[in-house]
Amino acid sequence: MATSACPLCFEANPAGSDFCEACGAPLREGAVSDDAVYREIAEANLLRVRQDFKGAADRCLAVLRRYPNNATVHVLLADVYAEQGAWTDAAQWYEMALDLQDDDAVRRKLDDVRNRVASAETSETLAKIGVPERKPMVWGYVLAVGLLVVAVAGGAFLAGQGSRGGQRAMTSMGDPIDVSGVAPRLLNPPEPTTETPVPAGPAPARDSLLQAIESETRGAPVVLRAVFNPRERVVTVVAQAETAVQPRVTAAKAALAALAASAEAVTATVLVEGEGGRVVFAADLSAEAARTARAALAGGDTVESQAEVILSGVWVPGSVPSEGTAPQTSPPGEEPNPPSPG
Ligand SMILES: [Zn+2]
Repeated sequence: MATSACPLCFEANPAGSDFCEACGAPLREGAVSDDAVYREIAEANLLRVRQDFKGAADRCLAVLRRYPNNATVHVLLADVYAEQGAWTDAAQWYEMALDLQDDDAVRRKLDDVRNRVASAETSETLAKIGVPERKPMVWGYVLAVGLLVVAVAGGAFLAGQGSRGGQRAMTSMGDPIDVSGVAPRLLNPPEPTTETPVPAGPAPARDSLLQAIESETRGAPVVLRAVFNPRERVVTVVAQAETAVQPRVTAAKAALAALAASAEAVTATVLVEGEGGRVVFAADLSAEAARTARAALAGGDTVESQAEVILSGVWVPGSVPSEGTAPQTSPPGEEPNPPSPG
């Protein structure tokens, strides 16, 4: 019987196999190993959306024990780190994912987290020379350290050396062979850009941003204001409350539109204005959660049900505002009410 050798671990697989039974590496163009571990990946992604980052990371690591060369899980684990502001860890996992399978979307994510590593280093330098930092992302780092411990404990199987530090050990059978041309199937593939294209480069001007969002919402909800904060890469959008529509649903629609219209943004902060310009609902939506939602909507889910799960940092009248955490400066994965330290 004909066999084909895995390029990464040299396991002999039956000819025509989609992926390597031993390590999860793709064996032919367009092939995926995700099907075999689809349930685990879906569960990990759900935990991530619910901001159970430890649970999500644990689930990812469990899959990687079975399929150390599954690129999708590398990306998902990197996303989990990125959502907590653990940019260095996120960068390393994105790099390893790209070693397994080249992908433009993952490259963009890697560029993004590398920029964030650089700006975090700039902040440290500023702190050292006595320039006050406006908003240290303490909780992101506390969580990152916690997860690093999890990763190290769960990653004992990663033993080995790599050219770019210990984490490279995931591909311990040697440097992965270039599998360019193999399109990795991401759990939440980027949507084809059928909407108004947003020019790359400088942050969009306020009015063109507003127009781009309006072309996404098509008038429902009415978008009153929008501004893009290039420092945090947060697009803040103010939408008018809709009659007979829950503010949460209005917020979800506006936030999805804002992220679709603002290619640079990693988070949308949405405010829903009611009578007399009073804010009746506030929340954040991460670009990752938006992607998950769009995939679900494309699959027939409703905005109403997605609105229940994708928004974070939800504020409604009567909520206790989270202490000292301005939504604009929170990392996307930050809990609205962080536990007290210690
Ligand atoms: Zn293999």
